[in-house]
Amino acid sequence: MIATGARPFIPPIPGIEQMDCLTSENVWEIRALPRRLVVLGGGPIGSELTQAFARFGARVTQVEMLPRILMREDPEISAMVMAKFRAEGVEVLVEHKAKQFLLENGRKVLVCEHQGQDVRIEFDQLLCAVGRVARTEGFGLQELGIPLTKARTIEINEFLQTAYPNIYACGDVAGPYQFTHTAAHQAYYAAVNGLFGGFKRFRVDYSVIPWATFTDPEVARVGLNETEAKERDIPYEVSVYGIDDLDRAIADEAAHGVVKVLTVPGKDRILGVTIAGDHAGDLIAEFVAAMRHGFGLNKILGTIHIYPTLAEANKYAAGVWKKAHAPQGLLRQVEKFQAWMRG
Ligand SMILES: Cc1cc2nc3c(=O)[nH]c(=O)nc-3n(C[C@H](O)[C@H](O)[C@H](O)COP(=O)(O)OP(=O)(O)OC[C@H]3O[C@@H](n4cnc5c(N)ncnc54)[C@H](O)[C@@H]3O)c2cc1C
Repeated sequence: MIATGARPFIPPIPGIEQMDCLTSENVWEIRALPRRLVVLGGGPIGSELTQAFARFGARVTQVEMLPRILMREDPEISAMVMAKFRAEGVEVLVEHKAKQFLLENGRKVLVCEHQGQDVRIEFDQLLCAVGRVARTEGFGLQELGIPLTKARTIEINEFLQTAYPNIYACGDVAGPYQFTHTAAHQAYYAAVNGLFGGFKRFRVDYSVIPWATFTDPEVARVGLNETEAKERDIPYEVSVYGIDDLDRAIADEAAHGVVKVLTVPGKDRILGVTIAGDHAGDLIAEFVAAMRHGFGLNKILGTIHIYPTLAEANKYAAGVWKKAHAPQGLLRQVEKFQAWMRG
């Protein structure tokens, strides 16, 4: 079983080799807080570390070449995180493409391109978080001729076998996901197939994969978001519940964020959910179960949730959907009936 994981990718930006760059691998070893930190990358790891270092007291500049951080999430979700970062003193620079690193009289400078202009950022320490690549070298893969995919992960079939049926791969080295829980999920299938494949083999199931980014606000997702639904031309309805309305969130001084649910038009079947807010990664579990086991928003609405808990947000999001689908004709009849009863 090959489970060698991934390593940080260092982009070939001129001068980066002189920067003594921190990565998601070695950042844990530093013992002194950098005064001015540049974080290259607006993905989940870059964003989590940006906020962590800012909260430790470093002056952090986060540099992202795309129009927003957490680019996989819907724009308003990214905007919530970006607004919080900025409120906490982080300088978030989007549409800034790192072009060159310079050492000028011992001073470190990053030159970025922004709207056709060069922007110079002086800093003390660089943290590079622009992605991680599968660790496929140094242990004989090439000698065995085990093929890699375009994404440079080990090519595996749906039973997690490499080109050699007795060699399995799982986790970051196999992809397509880079999460601990998907690595564990694959490891289970690979182990069962490796041990009992002679009798029965099981196809790994990627149908419902959730994830979370542990920023504040925390962002969790399962299935489609609105951006992806539009890109793929998938019809959807959207129901949004604002967590600022939720009693427990108010009591916890955490009254911010949303539960955003995409459903099949006219049906309660869930296509995807994004939650931003405290404990989003915990809250989403109910929707993950719903998607995995095929129950919809009506069932979530019909489930008693403890008052006052954050989990009630899920039920209220289902309530938003229900309200939008209330049978208006029947409600009018009932209104007339009640008026008649009152006399
Ligand atoms: C900063 C950071 C934060 C993250 N946060 C989250 C998160 O919140 N939630 C989440 O789900 N995922 C998170 N991830 C991703 C998660 O860590 C990985 O997806 C997960 O660890 C993959 O598991 P793995 O077993 O494939 O690889 P790894 O956990 O990387 O384990 C691979 C192991 O193989 C060893 N190894 C490598 N080469 C060899 C060799 N030749 N011989 C022997 N041993 C070798 C390595 O030393 C390592 O111990 C995060 C990653 C990073 C970097």
